[in-house]
Amino acid sequence: MANKKLMSKTLRLILGDQLNSNHSWYKSIDDNVTYVLMEIRTETDYASHHIQKVVGFFAAMRSFSNAIKAKKHHVIYLNINDDENLQSFDKNIQHLIANHNFTHFEYQLPDEYRVDEHLKKVCKSISIPSLVVDTEHFFTARNELESFFEGKKTFLLESFYRALRKKHTVLMEGDKPLTGQWNYDGENRKKLPKVHKPIAPLVFNNNVTAILQEVKKTSIKTIGTIDAENFVWPINREQSLQLLDFFVTECLHLFGSYQDAMTPNEWSLYHARISFSMNVKMISPQEVIDRAIEEWQNRPDEIEYNQLEGFVRQIIGWREYMRGIYWHKMPDYASMNFFNNMEKLPDWFWTGKTKMNCMKDAINQSLNYAYAHHIQRLMITGNFALLAGVHPDEIDAWYLGIYIDAIEWVEITNTRGMSQFADGGIVGTKPYVSSASYIDKMSHYCGTCFYKKALKTGDKSCPFNSLYWNFYDRNEDKLAKNPRIGMMYNVWRKMKPEDKVALLHQADYYLKNINEL
Ligand SMILES: Cc1cc2nc3c(=O)[nH]c(=O)nc-3n(C[C@H](O)[C@H](O)[C@H](O)COP(=O)(O)OP(=O)(O)OC[C@H]3O[C@@H](n4cnc5c(N)ncnc54)[C@H](O)[C@@H]3O)c2cc1C
Ligand code: SF4
Repeated sequence: MANKKLMSKTLRLILGDQLNSNHSWYKSIDDNVTYVLMEIRTETDYASHHIQKVVGFFAAMRSFSNAIKAKKHHVIYLNINDDENLQSFDKNIQHLIANHNFTHFEYQLPDEYRVDEHLKKVCKSISIPSLVVDTEHFFTARNELESFFEGKKTFLLESFYRALRKKHTVLMEGDKPLTGQWNYDGENRKKLPKVHKPIAPLVFNNNVTAILQEVKKTSIKTIGTIDAENFVWPINREQSLQLLDFFVTECLHLFGSYQDAMTPNEWSLYHARISFSMNVKMISPQEVIDRAIEEWQNRPDEIEYNQLEGFVRQIIGWREYMRGIYWHKMPDYASMNFFNNMEKLPDWFWTGKTKMNCMKDAINQSLNYAYAHHIQRLMITGNFALLAGVHPDEIDAWYLGIYIDAIEWVEITNTRGMSQFADGGIVGTKPYVSSASYIDKMSHYCGTCFYKKALKTGDKSCPFNSLYWNFYDRNEDKLAKNPRIGMMYNVWRKMKPEDKVALLHQADYYLKNINEL
């Protein structure tokens, strides 16, 4: 028996988004366990990723590997250009098992359907026993949302969120929400005052030039720009905690108020920018909300409750909800196209070269920082793409590539679901589209734009205006019965026929000349 134990050798795979140093795997040092992390082409090449995303992942993986090595765990790290790196999970795992005589293979549940399926196949193909364990990161299990809504046709975020608040006793007083009110959305949608200067974001000055050089030696196709001597994103747990600390001390008091606000040249505002840290699991959602609640408890006079609730809702509500939808609806979700949209993404989505101020700002900051906040993603770029009838595959590829936090489970549910309504209403109850009036209400983009927000037709009319009505007109059969939209069709039907013709004509012109906008 003792002999058998001595001979047991376990290989444990750590994926690039599984950098959870508090995982029970690392509680004890075991000389019979070897961890492996790999930088591989199957992961760098499934989309055209932002250069900051590729470098950010590699930097975080390397720093995680060094951190667990320093604690005396045994680690194999395959760099992108290593000769022995066979560039895929299956090949590397098979090679390592054969060369190191591993007797067991273990991995943590992947968050991505594609990788999940792949690793299941790998387990079947190898001749040693395998074991998959939880990532110990999320509040919910993969299938928890599916069980929660069993037999229901709609999946209301609000009911799931409230159930999770109760289950995990977050901001509760017995069975009731603290303060008696669940939802503070109504207080959380303010425009930034014109004279208001938002806080400068905390950024890091990580030197990632060595990694960048290594990536440059490969043929990996990337988008966007990078300042490799001053890489702004957190690349380890310490920096992630610093960013969280900065958020709760400097931004939380205005988070809810300005979470939907937009203004030129301010890429961060009062947002937390912790999605990358959380999605690669350098920090957990539990510690994020605990820290926010602690700060609110320490400064009740400075941080109003609506700001805190707005934040907690994003983490324990939206983030867990999207994950549940993903695992409930994949793989079908990835091919849903409710409106049967077929157009290509305008070229300027990749360059930012457009005269539309709002689009220019949102796209350029995405190219420069691999980041845009939620409303920029939803009501600027996503809104335009939906109005323009772009195929959801094209839109998914863009969002999956451009944002540093983009991992399919949270990208596709937000993009195809929330933003594009391509799921026909699983995530949202109506499509998120707007004309210039919403954008002007929430931002300072329109005043200096080439286009005029108040014009619906003519050379300088804001494209959002005519495309908005064109969208409703062409999708009437699919939307007119939606109780949340019916009112818009009443307005459309009451419009003078000549005005309708002019709007549709204008939209048609813009769609035909979309690359010139
Ligand atoms: C079209 C589109 C695509 C998106 N793609 C991604 C993506 O690839 N990866 C990603 O993490 N988020 C995505 N989101 C959700 C959201 O925009 C980002 O989580 C957020 O902007 C990240 O920045 P932050 O950390 O500053 O967030 P904050 O605004 O400070 O919010 C705090 C945290 O709440 C969570 N959160 C907020 N909104 C959502 C949401 N709708 N779904 C899930 N979690 C949420 C995030 O973890 C975020 O870090 C997308 C949204 C849209 C509309
Ligand atoms: S006028 Fe139209 S295109 Fe210009 S910033 Fe406003 S909404 Fe955007």
